[in-house]
Formats: sequence, structure tokens, C-alpha cells
Amino acid sequence: MPITIPFDNSYARLPDSFFAHQRPMPVIAPDLIAVNQRLALELGIDPDMLGSLEGIAVLAGNALAAGSEPIAQAYAGHQFGNFVPQLGDGRAVLLGEVIDQNGIRRDIQLKGSGPTPFSRNGDGRAWLGPVLREYIVSEAMHAMGIPTTRALAAVSTGQKVQRESALPGAVLTRVASSHIRVGTFQYFAARQNTEALQVLTDYAIARHYPEAEGALGLLQAAIVRQAKLIAQWMSVGFIHGVLNTDNCHIAGETIDYGPCAFMDRYHPETVFSSIDQRGRYAYQNQPDIAVWNLAQLATSLLPLMGGDKDVAIEKATEAVHRFADLFQSEWLNLFRAKIGLRSAEEGDAALIGDLLARMTAGDADFSNCFRALGTAKARDQFSNPAAFDQWAPAWAARRVRDGSTEEEQATLMERTNPAVIPRNHRIEEAIQAGVAGDFAPFERLNRVLSNPYSEQQKEADLTRPPQPEEEVLQTFCG
Ligand code: AMP
Ligand code: MG
Ligand code: MG
Repeated sequence: MPITIPFDNSYARLPDSFFAHQRPMPVIAPDLIAVNQRLALELGIDPDMLGSLEGIAVLAGNALAAGSEPIAQAYAGHQFGNFVPQLGDGRAVLLGEVIDQNGIRRDIQLKGSGPTPFSRNGDGRAWLGPVLREYIVSEAMHAMGIPTTRALAAVSTGQKVQRESALPGAVLTRVASSHIRVGTFQYFAARQNTEALQVLTDYAIARHYPEAEGALGLLQAAIVRQAKLIAQWMSVGFIHGVLNTDNCHIAGETIDYGPCAFMDRYHPETVFSSIDQRGRYAYQNQPDIAVWNLAQLATSLLPLMGGDKDVAIEKATEAVHRFADLFQSEWLNLFRAKIGLRSAEEGDAALIGDLLARMTAGDADFSNCFRALGTAKARDQFSNPAAFDQWAPAWAARRVRDGSTEEEQATLMERTNPAVIPRNHRIEEAIQAGVAGDFAPFERLNRVLSNPYSEQQKEADLTRPPQPEEEVLQTFCG
């Protein structure tokens, strides 16, 4: 009995140039690692069915559910600033779309499902490490209220994947509001295929920004979303790691978790990705990189902006330049809330900046330091606690002007500063255990991270920063 997924596909109806028909490649011995029960229900899919033998066969790419029209999507992208006219899904296949319980169209995609016409050198496969990492981190981001692709399931393949050594293979089932990237627009713009560019633009507007008018409206709306998203990343210490234009989602979802990481110790120049040797995608560069990526989107959309070319350039440039103010105001709102302020004052950016500078100098743990604010433990987060004591009086005076009691402030801070984040060394630990066949640490991380703002006394070890010997200094693409 093939399983039933209520597919309602629209991308596969777009012109042939948008994708290649591609069935996932079967694997030898699929086995279930995880099904995301709540997400399955949200999608109108029976989670027990997904976990059945027939369901696992679909999640592994060994069978197709009725109504599935598997395709690999075409896109281009700037990788570390260099334009690559054709990337595309080289190790992923879109199975189809469903309309979820809220009426929202969602993509269901297999990642690691074998080669496609867009695979360049890779095998189209994924090993267990990046699959578990994306599962854990994307679900943690969602629990923190940050727009992101989701993880519906993970299966092991029973096959080895050759990397530096032979590693166990896995397939992730990813759910997204779409998989349209800035690079998707670049793909058609680079080919001067204005007709396809128009189709894509109309499709993206209908799917993501029904209120937007034309290409300029799409650009403006995408800029607003991206500014919000990057501010949210900054507010939890998240570093994406590969902010190429092909990893920049048109509707402002976090997408393509490769060498991403959360900072432990706060330092604005932090980089984890092994391939980011010059720190292009360092923590503090993320807003500027978003502007760079959005400028590529603007350039791609110019042919659709009609009328006088100089006027179009002027308007698109103006739209991109708005990012700075949008981002700054989102960032300020989030960081104000992180230090427990409700009102806005001129000096807030300086007050927050001063705290961050002291955190850098004092090797403070980003998450724990914010979480500890307002408790006696705050000063202990600094290698030089006096540095915190020097900041605290201005903060206390600001709270008084805010009209908040210490309790009110603490309540706000508890809602805005996660108690637990997916720390790198814990992800590594879960991956190592998973490779050895033990998924209990993976399951525990997912369970605890689904409630990031609550104190979970029994799980306090997950809030501890890494010991020097546990520290993960580099992350890899997988
Ligand atoms: P990423 O930045 O990880 O999303 O990858 C960039 C491009 O490389 C995408 O087009 C991927 O599909 C492709 N790619 C990455 N890994 C593999 C792989 N193992 N096999 C085939 N293509 C891959
Ligand atoms: Mg990518
Ligand atoms: Mg330091």
C-alpha cells in the first residue's frame, strides 16, 4: 500500500526550464531515525504512516507517494562572491507541495537523495552528520520563533558515503514555504530569459507576497523579511556560515544549514566554517552580506522594472539602501528586549553596544550572559566581573526610566533570551553517538530545544558552555 500525502503541486507546472524531472535514487537498507510528529500533523500527514515501512520507503526515496512529481530545481548563485551560473539541486529532490492546516503551501523535499542533472562533482548524498545537524538546528530555530525551513524526518540509508572517510548515509526530509532563492532569479537573469524571470516573479509574489506589486514590490518585501531574519539571527548568536545568494531564501526563511553554528563566547568576528577562510560570513558581517545578496536580487529583477532604466536603477538602489535602517530598527527592538526594556530611548544602542563590548573583552558566553542578566550570576559571566559592575548602574537607571520593576524586566528577558541553544559541542556529541547507532542524545537535544525559553533543571548540562577540550572550532559543509 503506497502511503498518501495530499500533494498539490505548483512548481512542477512552471516551464521546463525551471527544473529537471528527477526521481530520488533508492537506497539499500532504509531505517527511521526520526519523524517530526507535530510538523506531520500540521501538514495533514499521519505521522504513524510516515514511520511505517511504506512511509520510510518514501522518506528514503525508495518509493514515491501517489501525487508526487519529483523535480530538482534550477538555480544559480554567488558562492563567496563568485557567480556560478548553474548550481541547482545537486543532492535534493522536491517531492511535491502540500497545503498545510493553516492554508499555507509547503514544499516537501528530500535532501541527500542521490545525484541529479545539477550535481557537479558530488554524489548527491549526505552523511548522517549534516542531516542530524540540520534537523536539530532548524527545529531549534523554529522553537525560538525564527523563520526557517523545517525538518519532517530523517532516515539512515544503510549505505556508506565517502567523505574523508566512509561515513553512514542519511536522508533529511525538509519542509519549506518554498525553495526559491535569490539564486533562482539570478539563474534566469544570467540567461537573459526575461520571460521566465517574469513567470518566477509572478509565482514568488503569488506564493509569498500577495500584497506586493511587481518586481520592485517583490524586492522591497524581500528586503523587509531579510532584515528581520538577520536581526533575529544576531539576537541569538547564530552564524549561518555560507550566506551565498543560493542560500538566501526569497521569503526570508533560514535555509541550507551547512557549517552553521551558535556562538558560545561572544566575539563579533566569530567564524566556524572551515571553508570561510577570510571570514566573509563572520557573525558581524551577516547584515552587510545580506545587503550584498539583496543587491544581486535587485540587479536580477531590473529587466522587469520597466520604463526608464535609470529610474528603475534608482528605485532598486533606494530599496536596497533601506535595509540598513530596517535592520537597525529590528536589531534595536530585539536587543532592547534582551536587556529587558520596553520603551525606546536615544541612548539604547550605545548602552547595548557597551554591554557587547564588555562581553567581548570579558569572554562572556553570549546566551548565558543575556540569560543571566538581572540575576546575581550576571557578573560571573565575565572574566573581569568589574566590567559588568561598571555597566550595571546605567542599565538600572534605564530600567527606572522604562517604568519597569525588576520582576517585569526579568519576565521580558526570560521570553527573549533562550535558556538553551544548540551548542556545537552538543551537536557533535549527538552526531558521534548517532554514528555509533545511539540516537538518544539527538532525541534529547530535540526535546529540550523545543522549549528554549524555559528553565529545565534536569537538562542544565545542555546550557553549559564547552570545556576547552569539548570546544568545536570548525564546522564543515558535509
Ligand atoms: P550548498 O551550499 O551546500 O547548498 O551546496 C551548493 C551546491 O552544491 C548545491 O547546488 C548543491 O546541490 C551542490 N552539492 C553539495 N553537496 C553535494 C553532493 N554531495 N552531491 C551533489 N551536489 C552537491
Ligand atoms: Mg545551498
Ligand atoms: Mg576576548
